[in-house]
Amino acid sequence: MLTQIKDLTTQLTPRLIEIRRHLHAHPELSGQEYQTAAYVAGVLSSLGLQVEEAVGKTGVVGHCPGVGTDQRVLAIRTDMDALPITERTGLAYASRQPGVMHACGHDMHTTVGLGTAMVLAQLGAKLPGTVRFLFQPAEEIAQGAGWMVQDGAMRDVSHILGLHVFPSIPARSLGIRYGALTAAADDLEIFIQGESGHGARPHEATDAIWIAAQVITTLQQAISRTQNPLRPVVLTIGQISGGRAPNVIADQVRLAGTVRSLHPETHENLPAWIETIVQGVCHTHGATCEVNYRRGVPSVQNDPALTQLVEQAAVEAWGRDRVQILPEPSLGAEDFSLYLQEAPGSMFRLGVGRPDQGNPPLHHPEFEADEGAIATGVVTLAYAAWQYWQHLKRPEEPPLTPA
Ligand SMILES: [Zn+2]
Ligand SMILES: [Zn+2]
Repeated sequence: MLTQIKDLTTQLTPRLIEIRRHLHAHPELSGQEYQTAAYVAGVLSSLGLQVEEAVGKTGVVGHCPGVGTDQRVLAIRTDMDALPITERTGLAYASRQPGVMHACGHDMHTTVGLGTAMVLAQLGAKLPGTVRFLFQPAEEIAQGAGWMVQDGAMRDVSHILGLHVFPSIPARSLGIRYGALTAAADDLEIFIQGESGHGARPHEATDAIWIAAQVITTLQQAISRTQNPLRPVVLTIGQISGGRAPNVIADQVRLAGTVRSLHPETHENLPAWIETIVQGVCHTHGATCEVNYRRGVPSVQNDPALTQLVEQAAVEAWGRDRVQILPEPSLGAEDFSLYLQEAPGSMFRLGVGRPDQGNPPLHHPEFEADEGAIATGVVTLAYAAWQYWQHLKRPEEPPLTPA
């Protein structure tokens, strides 16, 4: 079967490169993937798949039914949105949309998803169960997965697979991660209310800017002194605003930031911990404050059995040398985690590194993926899907008589 999948993928590769270049030249921002979605739906329909459009606003779902001996549904998720970045790659197929660029490789993901659908559609008569392709919008704003779930895209799904390109892994290699792959990412907003006054008479005012400085410093110090250092927390205040004139003591400051963590217990406790510190500092200096902590996306925690299945499929397909076990998670975030609240799953990293180009990182205006990785992604996903029906055990049947 592996040889058949590889041969099919080789035949499809020129077409897949065309698809990828078309998508790359026509990027669309999060939640506005209308042309991309129509294009994806067109390709899926041409394969004979049953297609649902406008799932999760601009998402697309394709159903590839097997012969039905196994009731489980395996989902394969790829994302479609681009970023508000002006492309500087100089490629012939660079973005034709001013100020919008596929700088996170979601054009590669969409292409790999379509390629996998092409391969599995041809194997459909041999697949015991259904593969459901989720083409998701709005990953960059961490909304699309939630929209898809809300619209029922995960109904009856038993397991889900996903991938993300990664420029620091050489093209045609893969990164497999057991356990946490990405961090939980939450939003933090703090309003500090002091009392305005003359810049020369601090004793008659409550300086919200000085108190904001204390809040930021205390939070950073408290991470190092009160959080378990083996359970990382990153708190970044990325915005600060307040004050009206150089010689007027500011009465109001707004701080906004992002909070990243890996351990579920730490994640659970963060809002109360931050509230206590901020309230304490503000109270000490005579100000009042409001802390708004908004949960973003949880950490992606890969399912051990499915991850092992992907690893074995990848090693069989490419050899051990091209399959790295990633020693560390990332503190980046990925809304794939929202699917994992519905069903176990696993996400791997697809190497697209171009050492000849200096490997610009994701979200960089010169980011460029090595297209050789498309076939690597397609074969790995298609073969992992094939192996899923053969090797991943069904959950234990309940006993017939109560124990
Ligand atoms: Zn991104
Ligand atoms: Zn991305």
